Amino acid sequence: MPNSTINNVLWTAYQKGQTIIPFGNVATYIPELGKARKNALGVTMLTKDGRIFELGDTDTRFTIQSISKVISLIVALETFGISTVFDRVGMEPSGEAFNSLVELDLNSNKPYNPMINSGAITIASMLLGHADFESMLEKTRALCHDPEIDLNEEVYASETANMSRNKSIAYLLESKDIIYNDVDESLELYTKMCSLNVTTKSLANLGIILAMDGLDPATGQQVIRKRVCETVKTIMLTCGMYDGSGEFAVRVGMPSKSGVGGGLLSVADDKVGIGIYGPSLDEKGNCIAGRPILEYLSKMLRLHIFDPDDIVTGMAE
Ligand code: GLN
Repeated sequence: MPNSTINNVLWTAYQKGQTIIPFGNVATYIPELGKARKNALGVTMLTKDGRIFELGDTDTRFTIQSISKVISLIVALETFGISTVFDRVGMEPSGEAFNSLVELDLNSNKPYNPMINSGAITIASMLLGHADFESMLEKTRALCHDPEIDLNEEVYASETANMSRNKSIAYLLESKDIIYNDVDESLELYTKMCSLNVTTKSLANLGIILAMDGLDPATGQQVIRKRVCETVKTIMLTCGMYDGSGEFAVRVGMPSKSGVGGGLLSVADDKVGIGIYGPSLDEKGNCIAGRPILEYLSKMLRLHIFDPDDIVTGMAE
């Protein structure tokens, strides 16, 4: 497909996203996130044949927040293997908010999935001893092709001073014997991973590696195992947008992961990686502009997971 056509589609998608921004709100439960410019909006798309399409606030750095759960899950699966990880964290959508603990307390002896806070705190506790913040930072920089990713000290301090809820989750995990290291150190690693500063392009780079089942198209190297990528993408599709995951899967049909900093990572299998930034969030804590943007891109560029045609790179199979 010619670049001009893709740029036109992206332009229209962007307009659709912009019109819905006033209906959302920036997150304020981490006070530092409340300083974000509500109208900011950026989109970066990377294709497997190396083309880049961008619009809006693509140079702005924002904290990755829950999208880091994807990276932590990748490292955990590579380190411990699929069966050990899913012995300790489930693979079912919780149907509850990302920071809920009711379903964990009432129905389960393990977190429902690795994309919600309880699951990600358990994963962080597993990683301690095998990985530390520095090695996780290096891994993030490598997968995002972005050596400038660093800890946002202000956001990290702000969340650390306001994380009663995550502390509650972590101690509930400890009470059920499903945290595998010191509670405070597990929370520290989890919160630091959430506080990494990225751009839409960093996310799109991670997206295209996942889209290519771990083969980095920029270097030709296999950087994540194929089976790990398949697992991560499936969990993103079913759980990545929290209790909005089902509707997102139907309408957009791309494995995706959101963060309360306004980031959104989406993967069109074997085709495209997408990063979005829009800090105005819907009531579930997902970038509100993300869905109309991705729904339109998915429809016009045929990116839905169950649409095998590749009209973007023209390599239909
Ligand atoms: N750091 C945030 C938290 O733990 C991440 C939540 C999110 O992005 N949904 O609440």
